[in-house]
Amino acid sequence: MSAPDETIALAARCTMATYERLPLVAERGEGAYIWDVGGKRYLDFTSGISVCNVGHRHPDVVAAIKGQLGKLIHSSNLIYNRPAAELAARLSEVSLGGKVFLCNSGAEANEGAIKLARKRAFMERGERSAQGSIVVCEGAFHGRTLGALSATPQVEKQRPFEPLVPGFAVAKRNDVESLRSLCDDATIAIMLEPVQGESGVNILSQEFIAEARLLADRHRATLIFDEVQCGLGRTGTLWAYQQTDVVPDLVTVAKSLAGGLPAGAVIARPELSGTLELGDHGSTFGGGALVAAAALAVLDAIDEEMLAQVDELGQMLGAGLTEIVEAGKAIEARGRGLIWALDLAGSTSAREVVRCALGEGILLSATSESTLRFLPPFVIGSEEVQSVLDFLKNNPIMD
Ligand SMILES: *Cc1c(COP(=O)(O)O)cnc(C)c1O
Repeated sequence: MSAPDETIALAARCTMATYERLPLVAERGEGAYIWDVGGKRYLDFTSGISVCNVGHRHPDVVAAIKGQLGKLIHSSNLIYNRPAAELAARLSEVSLGGKVFLCNSGAEANEGAIKLARKRAFMERGERSAQGSIVVCEGAFHGRTLGALSATPQVEKQRPFEPLVPGFAVAKRNDVESLRSLCDDATIAIMLEPVQGESGVNILSQEFIAEARLLADRHRATLIFDEVQCGLGRTGTLWAYQQTDVVPDLVTVAKSLAGGLPAGAVIARPELSGTLELGDHGSTFGGGALVAAAALAVLDAIDEEMLAQVDELGQMLGAGLTEIVEAGKAIEARGRGLIWALDLAGSTSAREVVRCALGEGILLSATSESTLRFLPPFVIGSEEVQSVLDFLKNNPIMD
């Protein structure tokens, strides 16, 4: 075993420095906890950024992976495999009822959705008018590949990589007028995160989401919900859209889909199931047997009981964070289920709070210099929620 400092130095020497990392070298994970190479235990209130929703190494996910590992890891999309076929069927059944494209990440799922929306416009409107716009929302995060980055209206992320993919327009968050003013018959898609994760847990209003549905219908545009972070039980229902009156045309999913293995999917309504045709799209790793077997076990694990747990503990976490706001130690708490953010007061630095929490054995994340984000795995208990609230309430870093 090597010292953590050696690992950090090796990574710094040989890995492109694209991430701001905490000085923790993870060695083992189980349930809601991670252990470092020195054996110190950390409560993981990030779930690996909403990837380990059912906890680290959920026993059923581990068993499914081990079982599949004894048979087949990968076989290509030149032929079929049973777990991938079942995964597509299951994803369809629990959401929009149409067909599914299996891929490997959130950005890739969003690229697939954008291509599908463009292909639909191309088929319905002819070549020229398919050049129309895709309306996205202020504060959105859809990924880092060029198409997904172009859909992510954050200047500091976009600027160095121009020219971007053209055709994206940005509506002001929860501003129905703004959304309306950007949509016309040239609009081919509206793409939204029902609950924006990376911008600090900003929940889109019912009114805004309902208007998006209305406008998409009026202009025959495709309504895409990016549920990469807020889906798969994170908000207390399997999909965030189930807490709205709206059903989208496409849902994109990734992050926790395969319990820590890379997986993503585009799920369509039946009407859009045939839009992508032979040769239109592909992904070498998409629908690999090992990943699909893991994903089936994850979907099994997120049952009614687990969703009720998300709801109940989410209310406890939300109530506790609201108390911190009422005590004047923070400005606002936002969230639902087990996705929450806390805007800190005055000069308190979210990054410093994260570092301090790490010292106390709690792994948190910050979405900006002033906002903490809470994404615990669904297998935490009330003691774990309480320990994080106690840290925030009692540690002098929050004063
Ligand atoms: C993380 C995230 C993505 C990008 O997913 P990757 O797997 O990193 O490509 C896209 N959309 C949302 C809402 C996300 O949270």
